[in-house]
Amino acid sequence: MSKILIVEDEEAIADLEKDYLELSGFEVEIEHRGDVGLKRALTEDFNLIILDLMLPEMDGFDICREIRAQKNTPIIMVSAKKDDIDKIRGLGLGADDYMTKPFSPSELVARVKAHLARYERLIGTGVQSNDIIEIRGIKIDKTARRVWVNGEEKNFTTKEFDLLTFLAENPNRVFTKDELFHEIWNMESIGDIATVTVHIKKIREKIEFNTAKPQYIETIWGVGYRFKM
Ligand code: CA
Repeated sequence: MSKILIVEDEEAIADLEKDYLELSGFEVEIEHRGDVGLKRALTEDFNLIILDLMLPEMDGFDICREIRAQKNTPIIMVSAKKDDIDKIRGLGLGADDYMTKPFSPSELVARVKAHLARYERLIGTGVQSNDIIEIRGIKIDKTARRVWVNGEEKNFTTKEFDLLTFLAENPNRVFTKDELFHEIWNMESIGDIATVTVHIKKIREKIEFNTAKPQYIETIWGVGYRFKM
């Protein structure tokens, strides 16, 4: 059964949405506060999130951005103001759909179903094979040596690709710069481990939403790097 999270501070609206979605066979949870909603969205497995824009503690802009930095869960953003919806679109936060309140509950249900179906098709096509690595928003095709970040293809140099792939194939393991240098550059290279730092920086620029707060390749100070699963 698909599980949906509604982050909405207006209780009457949240309850109405919940009733209709439950009637359609979905399991629904409600959070009224933005920060709590974000925490649950990141730590639990929801199939879709309905996100209000104006919320106590943390607004929908920030929540959407934070979720997208880590997860591909479909997000439908809702707001009472048409202007806000235009603004959200303009910001390119990565929401999948936008609705202006008030909307009919049946329209909401229809859109929820459409997005769930689309998302299932999307992940269905990326069936894990040995040649495809998919971790959150990143997809690496080892055979074609191509990389997509949130559906957008990015270009990597040979060594950047090798380093990213090596880390992604060994998630949650910490490697020292020496180990990485040895693994990727072998003996062929004259150079030093600073090369690793430079390449990590370049990879981050391509895959991270915010390079100051990496969501994929973490720096373990004094040790090396780790690809976070
Ligand atoms: Ca609100």
